[in-house]
Amino acid sequence: MKEGLTHLLYPRKCPGCGMVLSAGELVCAECAKEFALIEEPTCLICGRHIESEAEERCYTCTRSERSNIFGIAIFAYDDIMKKAMSDLKFHGQKDNADYFAAMAVSRSGSKIRNFDPCALIPVPVHKSRLRERGYNQAEIICDKIGEMLGIPVVTDLLQRSRKTDYQKNLGSIMRRRNLEGAFSCNNKVYPSGRIKSELPRVLLVDDIYTTGNTMEHCARKLSEAGVDEIGLLSISIGGGT
Ligand SMILES: [Zn+2]
Ligand SMILES: [Zn+2]
Repeated sequence: MKEGLTHLLYPRKCPGCGMVLSAGELVCAECAKEFALIEEPTCLICGRHIESEAEERCYTCTRSERSNIFGIAIFAYDDIMKKAMSDLKFHGQKDNADYFAAMAVSRSGSKIRNFDPCALIPVPVHKSRLRERGYNQAEIICDKIGEMLGIPVVTDLLQRSRKTDYQKNLGSIMRRRNLEGAFSCNNKVYPSGRIKSELPRVLLVDDIYTTGNTMEHCARKLSEAGVDEIGLLSISIGGGT
């Protein structure tokens, strides 16, 4: 009843085409076919599609330092996803997160359960961006996945200590520099003893994975803070091979 009323007052729109959906729908039938899911086999580290299972890691992950041991990606970061993600991030289309979270759980819920994270950790945005936008899209997605899988979401451990330029606007060398010192862990609230006992294994969650630099910087900080095993969940993945 309550859901029905909410739907009447604020009808949900399709994350792909913006068409008003029927109650209970998260995407229209046409766009459900357009959003490209990542197919198996996938890279163990980032979740990108790879040609053969025997490879285990994609080209980028075999050649880069990676602090995580596990990774899942749900969708390809193609044109339809770019728009849906940008609508969620910059244009207040928070409903899009429901579709992304539902697909993450239906596609990879069992993989996440097998990894058995003590917490989900959204990649944080800087305070000033939070003020501009009013929310962190990765945290919204995280909250919904956490609720569906019964896994707590921890937002006060990993922090964005420095405001950075948007990665997409930078070349690869500047991208790497841009992130130096961008993230830190709150050691006052989470001394390493507490991390070792409460958060030995976590799943970092972000909306977009391209070069993997952002996730790697976050994973490195978590590892330095005492987290033993780090997994990644990216709603969409692009670039690289
Ligand atoms: Zn649609
Ligand atoms: Zn990879």
